[in-house]
Amino acid sequence: MIAKATDADTLPRHDFYWGKEVNLKWTGWIAVGLLVAACSQEDASQKADSTAAEATAPQESAPTTRNAAAGINGARIQAADKEPGNWMAHGRTYDEQRYSPLDAINQETVESLGLAWHWDTNTTRGLEATPIVVDGVMFTTGSWSVVWAHDAKTGELLWEYDPQVPRDWGKYACCDVVNRGVAAWEGRIYVGTIDGRLIALDAATGEVAWDVLTIDKERPYTITGAPRIVKGKVIIGNGGAEYGVRGYITAYDTATGEQQWRFYTVPGNPDQPFENDAMKMAAASWRGTDWWSVGGGGTVWDSMSYDPDLNLLYIGVGNGSPWNRYIRSPGGGDNLFLSSIVALNPDDGSYVWHYQTTPGDTWDYTAVQHMILADIELDGAMRKVIMQAPKNGFFYVLDRTNGEFISAEAYVPVNWATHIDPETGRPVENPEAHYANDTKKIRPAPYGGHNWHPMTYSQKTGLVYIPVLDLPFKYAQDNAFKYNPGEWNTGVDFDTTIPSADPDVVISDLKDVKGHLTAWDPVEQKPVWSIQHDMSWNGGLLSTAGNLVFQGRADGVFAAYAADTGELLWEFPVGNGIIAAPVTYSIDGEQYVSVVAGWGGAYALASGVPRHRDNVLEEGRLLTFKLGGKAELPKTEVTLMKLPDPPALEYTTEQVNAGASLYAQYCSVCHGGGVLSSGTLPDLRYASASVHAAWDAIVRQGAFTSKGMPKFDHVLSEGDAHAVHAYVVETLKGTIGLCESEYRKNYPELLDTACTRPAR
Ligand code: CA
Repeated sequence: MIAKATDADTLPRHDFYWGKEVNLKWTGWIAVGLLVAACSQEDASQKADSTAAEATAPQESAPTTRNAAAGINGARIQAADKEPGNWMAHGRTYDEQRYSPLDAINQETVESLGLAWHWDTNTTRGLEATPIVVDGVMFTTGSWSVVWAHDAKTGELLWEYDPQVPRDWGKYACCDVVNRGVAAWEGRIYVGTIDGRLIALDAATGEVAWDVLTIDKERPYTITGAPRIVKGKVIIGNGGAEYGVRGYITAYDTATGEQQWRFYTVPGNPDQPFENDAMKMAAASWRGTDWWSVGGGGTVWDSMSYDPDLNLLYIGVGNGSPWNRYIRSPGGGDNLFLSSIVALNPDDGSYVWHYQTTPGDTWDYTAVQHMILADIELDGAMRKVIMQAPKNGFFYVLDRTNGEFISAEAYVPVNWATHIDPETGRPVENPEAHYANDTKKIRPAPYGGHNWHPMTYSQKTGLVYIPVLDLPFKYAQDNAFKYNPGEWNTGVDFDTTIPSADPDVVISDLKDVKGHLTAWDPVEQKPVWSIQHDMSWNGGLLSTAGNLVFQGRADGVFAAYAADTGELLWEFPVGNGIIAAPVTYSIDGEQYVSVVAGWGGAYALASGVPRHRDNVLEEGRLLTFKLGGKAELPKTEVTLMKLPDPPALEYTTEQVNAGASLYAQYCSVCHGGGVLSSGTLPDLRYASASVHAAWDAIVRQGAFTSKGMPKFDHVLSEGDAHAVHAYVVETLKGTIGLCESEYRKNYPELLDTACTRPAR
């Protein structure tokens, strides 16, 4: 499709940042590998007036749909297969398989799948939500934790709720101001907000029933995950381990918002009483004298699943604060419960068992990734298993009754460990992965071999489908590490994200970034088929009884593949990179498939990898498809901007070098490694003359705080800010040189979008 240039007048915020009259100059340094990032948000806020949907069917019985979600409860979710037309919980069912029995849309009919309706979110940041669909109403979320209710058949907006998150809190969101969706229960909709609140809304009207603060606001916690609801308790964790927090998960009474229990995932100060025996046990696996001052980490920022028969709630636990174990826990130790799956009793939050995927994690290898419960036959016996592909690159099958290790194999190239020892269930680390003394290129990167993007388990094929990330990262110890409250505190030196000055190395690094859709046999622990996509950071997955796997991609295409063979069966270009997972539902006997499109998230902000040339739209969209759908997306066309002429700025080589380090530490996780933004935050190479003129006011004095750009006067001196400016300008000049060179001609697929950007 052709995307049209957004009328700059409608998005005045961007005018401030991006030069308008660009001539054909350009540059490009490309950094591969920054990680998860974070940032400030200079994006547009949602606008209240939403675009009308293109309804293709007459709206019917709207009043009855206003009472949707009234009857959702545990019994109904447990019996979800009796009403496959609804998608009542985050993973559709408590086992989070994301497999639908619906099969009207199948490998034979999918060729006639077309757009039923679409709705513009009027947001420009990443969209990661899985919609909940109940009795004809769809509930989903967008940037800044805004909630929308739509008529799922027509796309009509029924209500919108904006929690009015203060924009300056966005600086604590490591990985974009995203939200992964709501939970529904007995007439209410529950959402966690970026600023740490849990809010109950009336499902019919969007009015607030209760609103509780779940975090200590003295610490940089955020919420991006979807709540889960078990037995009348709404359960939510949080994020913030990049900055320095102590992880925990909390249950609240769905009716009142009253706290029911809280489970910490890492021990606090051992001079204080432990909260429970699990914390006492965990503390024995930590060393040193003050891990708790930074926080320890272990945030539960995304995945949960629940087995009603075993009455076990499974939570995925994240990385340490700081990442670097030599700083976090000098002297070693496993550092429980970092990078672990922990089983809890959902009645009181008490510990039952744990399995640690990466003992003593030092690479940001969280185990918060999607956990799927299934009963599968292994060695002739049916086993109740839990399956996860955490960031560390191994696919795990565990006995979910007791946490016993069954098997694990690498689903992506891995070099931090040689294998998982089948006797102990522990990884055998490769000494070459230890970076305390030298820079080491490690796979997977901190983005993981798989991140939050949901997998799916097809009951039809018995395969797990994984949206795989395949890229390395150069780790080095930050020998000058000093805890810096409110900033990134990883103990890792981000200077390694500064791109090489050698174009051949830049090209080689870019080629090293891949993404796959992999069908994995959990019994044999091996791939059955795998497709390499053009880019990394592709969307979450849905499988159906129609022998289909749906995935949106980084190239702005929504696609369906044959679940058994991987054959590409259907594609629909939407112009905006898709990272969220699709859902399917039915109304009046007609099956629909929905997905939100909105490029963003950690990789999009931080990686410094150019976006795909067909991923040109910034504005998010909710899209719904059905067989014979005839709706069309508006025709748009894109105008490409060239890099601007560099401003006159005086600086020395020493200042450029110092600025490179400061940029890597304080700027790259939002504005992109190597000053190349592939997300929606400003690419500073395109900064306008007015931005250059006001550099210090913006960077140090808070001129753009209302846009979400934090002030950095507490960490950057006037000279530091000038050094960063020098590095940005020098990088602009270097990129122009690269883009005017033969490399541009020889590697258009790698450099076209590094050398231009769609006009905004
Ligand atoms: Ca992390």
